[in-house]
Amino acid sequence: MQNGAGRPPRGRGNPQGSTPGGQRNPGRGQYGQQTPGYGGYRQQAPRGQQNGYGQRQGGYGQSGYNQPRQRPMTRSMTEKEYRAYQQRQAATAEQRRRQAEVERMMRKQEAKRRRQHNRQVFAGRLAVFGAVLLIMGLIAGGIFLILFHSTPDAVEEQKISYTYGGKQVRKAAFEVAYGSGTYYFCFQDLADYLGMAETGSAAERRFLFVDEADLTDSRGDGSEEYVTFPDGQALAVVNGQRVPLDGPNRLSGEEVWVSVNFVEDVMDNLSLKIDDDTVAVGMIVDDTAETTEEQAKNKVILYLDPVFRLKAADPVEPIPEEEAFLSAMPGGLQDEDGEIDMELANVTFVNDLTAYEQYMAPENRDGYLDLVNTTRTLSADYAPTDLLDVAATAKGRTTQRLRQIAAKALEALLLEMNSANLPGMQVNSGYRTYSYQAMLFETYTGNELAKNPNITREEAEAIVLTYSTRPGTSEHQTGLAVDMATDDSFSTDFQYSEHYQWLMENAWKFGFILRFPADKVDITTIQFEPWHWRFVGRYHAKKIHDAGICLEEYIALLEAKEEQ
Ligand SMILES: [Zn+2]
Repeated sequence: MQNGAGRPPRGRGNPQGSTPGGQRNPGRGQYGQQTPGYGGYRQQAPRGQQNGYGQRQGGYGQSGYNQPRQRPMTRSMTEKEYRAYQQRQAATAEQRRRQAEVERMMRKQEAKRRRQHNRQVFAGRLAVFGAVLLIMGLIAGGIFLILFHSTPDAVEEQKISYTYGGKQVRKAAFEVAYGSGTYYFCFQDLADYLGMAETGSAAERRFLFVDEADLTDSRGDGSEEYVTFPDGQALAVVNGQRVPLDGPNRLSGEEVWVSVNFVEDVMDNLSLKIDDDTVAVGMIVDDTAETTEEQAKNKVILYLDPVFRLKAADPVEPIPEEEAFLSAMPGGLQDEDGEIDMELANVTFVNDLTAYEQYMAPENRDGYLDLVNTTRTLSADYAPTDLLDVAATAKGRTTQRLRQIAAKALEALLLEMNSANLPGMQVNSGYRTYSYQAMLFETYTGNELAKNPNITREEAEAIVLTYSTRPGTSEHQTGLAVDMATDDSFSTDFQYSEHYQWLMENAWKFGFILRFPADKVDITTIQFEPWHWRFVGRYHAKKIHDAGICLEEYIALLEAKEEQ
């Protein structure tokens, strides 16, 4: 049927005329040949429908709708045929119209469906957008709450304020105020609050409970109360006794920062209150104190005296002579009354240094205190007789020597430094003869004159004296002084090394002191020399170390004592 348009009319015709449209068959045959293009339409139109549309087709024909412009083949077409033709044309047009209608409807449906789909998509997107908006809103709200709920103090955040007796004296960043699981405070603030004095070197500040820092009384008779805070160690040394703290001490610049548990565990009659952003220290009201009439009138509040819980007077238990460890103790640790500073006695080492004990804490306790400086000179012929090669002369230098006692004590010190993971110390200078020092001084003076041709010899010598000494005034001639560092230079940068820090903390245990501290230049007249260490024996080294004084001051104190 699909190819019917090209078929001979007769073959397709229905001779029986059994269908209602049967009578048009001949015509169809004609048109089928003449206008093959229409054949398709004719055949598409269902026969049953053709009748139903018959009248309307006529109507269309009359109104000229879709009317053929010409009467095709008029001569061979009867009026009847023509009407049929018109009807078919109309039917075709109707067919197209309906099809267009259907297509339009379908497009409409499709558009509607799309709109619905788009609406669904839009609704979905709207939901997602809404959710995102909600989350953002919540976050913004949270931030808003945090910002406006907190006070301005907390907005600066991380700031901890410190009050003493209700007065704020400091604010510190949280990182400064808190660490190692404990709050810290700057000890100078408390010292100011309590009127404590501050002495000692930068490496070890000492705070004293006295009207004046009376350094002549370095062994407690009850009058001196002091505390020191070894840098990096979680302890306070109170009147010579170690008290554990919750975190390691921090020495930053001039300031000493200490765990707040110091206030609770070491002090009596002080209160400590900590909340989120405040560390408050205060004195405690003395309820039992009787106020005078005058005080009552002025509403004076009396407070309990803040004091160290550990007293300076805590006596060292007298040690029965028959006890073995006393006889084993080198005599060099006993003071004039035969008492022993327990800290001196309890020095411990990583290595077994028993064999070195006789050198570090010599029996002849006061035998190594020779003070040699510009005013106390050694004669040209003074030369020790017990010189020994040192363990670690710097490469490229002739083997340096020290007096046996200092050489051995130094050997012990270097052993411990190695064990403390601080190897690499080398001795740049030990014993120097008078003549060698004379040669050195001459050379230095010559160098200065060469650098500054306009100065006099006297002026040149004055310059040299700031870093070297005249023959007879160098303690290197004693055989008890050693210049050591991690390299063979004489650089003050050594002070920044861990090695130096270790020496500052521990050298006294081996009997050595820093001879020319940075803060004693006006007394020693020698520039700060972090490399120059002097053997005096453990007993005196500890006293000098603890007091933070130089050898000149210490000797002066001893001499003042003798005169009494
Ligand atoms: Zn030196």
